[in-house]
Amino acid sequence: MKLGFIGLGIMGKPMAKNLLKAGHELVVYDIVTKNVEDVVQAGAVAANSGKEVAQQCKIVITMLPNSPHVKTAVMGDNGILEGAVEGSIIVDMSSIAPLASQEICKACQEKGVKMLDAPVSGGEPKAIDGSLSIMVGGDQKVFNEVYDILMAMGASAVHCGDIGAGNITKLANQVVVALNIAAVSEAFMLSTKAGVDPEKVFHAIRGGLAGSTVMNAKIPMIMEGNFKPGFKVDLHIKDLNNALETGHSVGAPLPMTSAVMEMLQVLHANGSGADDHSAIAKYYEKLADLEIRS
Ligand code: NAD
Repeated sequence: MKLGFIGLGIMGKPMAKNLLKAGHELVVYDIVTKNVEDVVQAGAVAANSGKEVAQQCKIVITMLPNSPHVKTAVMGDNGILEGAVEGSIIVDMSSIAPLASQEICKACQEKGVKMLDAPVSGGEPKAIDGSLSIMVGGDQKVFNEVYDILMAMGASAVHCGDIGAGNITKLANQVVVALNIAAVSEAFMLSTKAGVDPEKVFHAIRGGLAGSTVMNAKIPMIMEGNFKPGFKVDLHIKDLNNALETGHSVGAPLPMTSAVMEMLQVLHANGSGADDHSAIAKYYEKLADLEIRS
């Protein structure tokens, strides 16, 4: 099938390549021209705007940083809605505010265009091997229509509810991940400061109740002092900001999320905004004046 793909960054690029591998034709666009080159070399055709992408493809996928970027790409000048026709489908796989998804969907509906919010979890490694977890909001029939396309990029695609439900699910995911990295960092600082080799602690506890996907992914990076992203501190600030705003609007207090948000703010202020979110460990390393190293 001929598909559009807009936003070819850390996540979008490997996701687009997996769609090519699955046999789809791709028309792609990114505001940064060099981000397009790799995917074009893999077989995609470049377009000059979201409008041009939508004129050529009835299904357009977006993978952009945050709500304002998706609004610009969909509703802005030369955006997707200028090229889309009645019955076109936009699948926004970015992690954005659920209220923004609902607002963008409304603008789409006015043109007879259908939209799903379908953010992902799994990070760059799972984007590369096509095993992302995809959480989807919007019309069940539209979900069924694009299910096979989603499964070319993911290991699972779950319909969570109406438009915005995908991003609400993603916010829950991001709260769990942020708090888990903080918990792992705090615990490993305790054991390292008390004189036990973090490598031994990792091997001793990873198989028990304290073990987690986060611990398996992040502790090896932390022990190497490798904070190359991955998922950037600044993107996690964006997600926790959306979580706190959503929590406040529905009356769900998020005290632990607020605490970890302030840790991320410290990292951002200290020049670590572009580090991997495992840099939360650096916040603890500064507090305790010790690195978590084997
Ligand atoms: P990124 O910054 O690497 O990529 C975003 C891309 O969008 C860039 O290439 C940028 O040039 C392009 N872009 C921005 N505005 C545009 C516009 N108006 N039109 C066309 N292109 C535009 O970000 P990423 O890490 O790929 O993340 C994308 C989304 O996926 C974010 O919402 C993020 O929270 C989410 N996410 C990221 C990860 C991860 O590990 N990186 C994991 C899960 C979810």
